[in-house]
Formats: sequence, C-alpha cells, structure tokens
Amino acid sequence: MEEDLTTDLVALQSHLETMFERVQQNSVTLQKFRAFEIRLLKLNSLPDIIDHLLEEAKNYFDLDVISLCLIDETGEIAKTLIDNGYPCSSTNGLMLLGSETPIKSTAIQSYIGVYEDSQCTGFFPHIEKQPVSVAITPLTRRSKYLGTLNLGSYQLDRFADNMATDFIEHLSSVISVCLENNLHVEEIKRGSYIDALTGVNNRRFLEQRIGEELNYCQRNAEPLSCQFFDIDFFKSVNDKYGHQGGDLVLSMVATAIKNQLRDNDIFVRYGGEEFVALLSNTDELKALEIAERVRKAIQALVIAVNDISISVTVSIGVSTYVSDSTSISINSEIATRLVKSADSALYKAKHNGRNRVENGGIVSDKQA
Ligand code: GH3
Ligand code: MG
Ligand code: MG
Repeated sequence: MEEDLTTDLVALQSHLETMFERVQQNSVTLQKFRAFEIRLLKLNSLPDIIDHLLEEAKNYFDLDVISLCLIDETGEIAKTLIDNGYPCSSTNGLMLLGSETPIKSTAIQSYIGVYEDSQCTGFFPHIEKQPVSVAITPLTRRSKYLGTLNLGSYQLDRFADNMATDFIEHLSSVISVCLENNLHVEEIKRGSYIDALTGVNNRRFLEQRIGEELNYCQRNAEPLSCQFFDIDFFKSVNDKYGHQGGDLVLSMVATAIKNQLRDNDIFVRYGGEEFVALLSNTDELKALEIAERVRKAIQALVIAVNDISISVTVSIGVSTYVSDSTSISINSEIATRLVKSADSALYKAKHNGRNRVENGGIVSDKQA
C-alpha cells in the first residue's frame, strides 16, 4: 500500500515537473511574442515592417525560413518600396503578386503541418532547402485579403496540424493591421502629391522636391533645367467645348508632355493650364532641345472631344541653374529664381506669338 503511494507520488511529481517546464516554455514564448509585437507596432515604414517580418521574426520564434506574399494589384506596394530604395526581388523572401489567384486556394485558411508540394509550392521561393514543417497563414483585414505569412522550420514537429492556431492567428492579425495601416499612410502621402484631374504630380510635390534636386546637382556639379509650359488660348477651349472638354484637353496634354520626359524628371501641374518640369543633369541647350520636342509633340496631338478632333499648342519658357560654387544664396531662394526665370521666358514666348520656346538663360548662386 505504502509502495503504491510512493510510486503514485513519484509519477505525480514527474508530471508536475513536465507541466512546470511547459508553463515556463510558454511564458518565454509569450514574452518573445510580446517583444516582437511591440517592436512591430513601433515601426512606421513599409520597408521596416517587411524587414522585421522576414529577418528578425526568425530569431524571435526560432524559425528557419520566413517568406511573405503581398497582393499588389495596382503596383503601389512595389512603387512605395522602390521609392524607399527597398529591393523588391523575391530573393529575400518577399513576393508581390499582381493578383490573389496563385495563392488564394491554399491561403483562404491557414495551412499548418508537414510541407506538402500540393499545398506549399511557391510559398518559399529562392530557398535552397525547403522547410519540412510549415505554417502558411492568410493576412486579412476588414475582409480584404492582403496576402500570406509563411513560416517554415527544418524541425519536423515544429508545426503539427493538430496544434492550437490561436497564437498564429493572433500574429497574423497584428501583422495585417500594421501592413494595412502603413499601406494607407503611403496611399495618403502619395495622393497628397498628385493632381486628381491629370494624374501627374502637383505643385506641392515640386516645392517639396526642388530643394533636394538643387542639393544633388550642387554636389555633383551638374546643371538643372526648368521648363514652364502654358497651354495657348485655353480659355477658348473651355468656351467652345465646355469645362469637360477643357478637362480632357488638360489631361491629354499633361500625358503627352510627360511622355517626352525621362521617368525620373519631375513634372507637375503647377496650376490651371500650367505645368512645370525639372530636368536634372540637363544643360541649357539640351533643355531647349527637349522643350522644342515637347512643343512639336503637343502641336501634333489630336484630341477627340465630343466627336470633334481638336488640337492645341503650348508656349514654353526655359531656365537653367548652374552652380558657381559660391553658395551665396540659400536653395529656397535659388529655387524661386529658377522657376521665376522660366516663367518670365514663358511670358516672352506668349508675347512673341505663342506656340514657341524662349530661353530665360542661366540662374547662378549669386543674384544678378
Ligand atoms: P494664353 O494663351 O495667354 O495662356 O491664354 P489662355 O486662355 O490659356 O489663358 P488664361 O489664363 O486667360 O486662361 C486659362 C484658363 O484655364 C482659364 C480657366 O478657366 C482655365 N482652367 C484652369 N483650371 C482649369 C481646369 O481644371 N479645368 C478646365 N477645364 N479649365 C481650367
Ligand atoms: Mg495660364
Ligand atoms: Mg494659357
């Protein structure tokens, strides 16, 4: 009888020790999870969030592989990342998908368990050794499917298909909130620099970027040219074809000018029917040549308004900043003089008969 009791006591003690160990393990996991979550919530840029998920999460959760699929139907995520200098190639575990079709079937619900080709192919790209145990979990927010978070391990029992999923579900919910929040912020930021009618950048964007452009060309001893465009007799377009007709002409002209410029040139709707371009590393002669090319392209443009084909012309003023390294003026003052000089040249082009290019000449560090 006494022997039985002793055996029971030993068994109970061992059971208690195992339970105590598990509680301790859970507590460590919970602490790591909290630390990861707090760090994630503090990040406020999309590249930082992606890096945190793809790199740091491995250490927090003792994982061997992590990848992230994000649905990017409009290409906005790729654009945001490229603008922030983030490498978008899937080699680092990030996959941007043009549609949800390739992953939808597997990721409507979490897949947790042994790596199966039928379920997991494509979720862990460019990885030499595929994981043997995985958790592929959908990222959703307000019924919108954002993508999947894919966790992998080389330990076979790391993710079992009967394991509790509340931890993974919680993690994916927090990540979804952070991603959605940052995507919204980026969307608002981009929207505030875009002109709604023409889709090109607005004057606020020019004001925000012109200082950086001046800094860059000063550092590299390169010229920076400014072109000021104004549609000729635009008021009469509105008078003849109504404001809707005028709006269409504005939009088509904006696109046609932009098409003549380089992708990295700054091109904005300055206001009304006026546009401004900033051409980095472009000297006076080159800027005049480009302006002439734009003028001809607009002259040749045929715009269909209410079944009537119309065409318009533009007048263009050009000015060019060349640093003489005296740094006498501050950049905001140089920026004002550069735009003003192109505007004065535009005025001259109007005065001299319209549909022409005039040169405002060189703007330097010293005020003339
Ligand atoms: P000029 O050759 O001297 O430039 O003559 P203009 O008629 O183009 O110049 P003016 O400055 O007199 O007219 C500009 C017109 O642009 C007046 C304004 O109603 C029109 N406008 C400004 N913004 C918009 C817009 O968003 N949509 C439309 N449809 N018209 C606009
Ligand atoms: Mg005008
Ligand atoms: Mg005009």
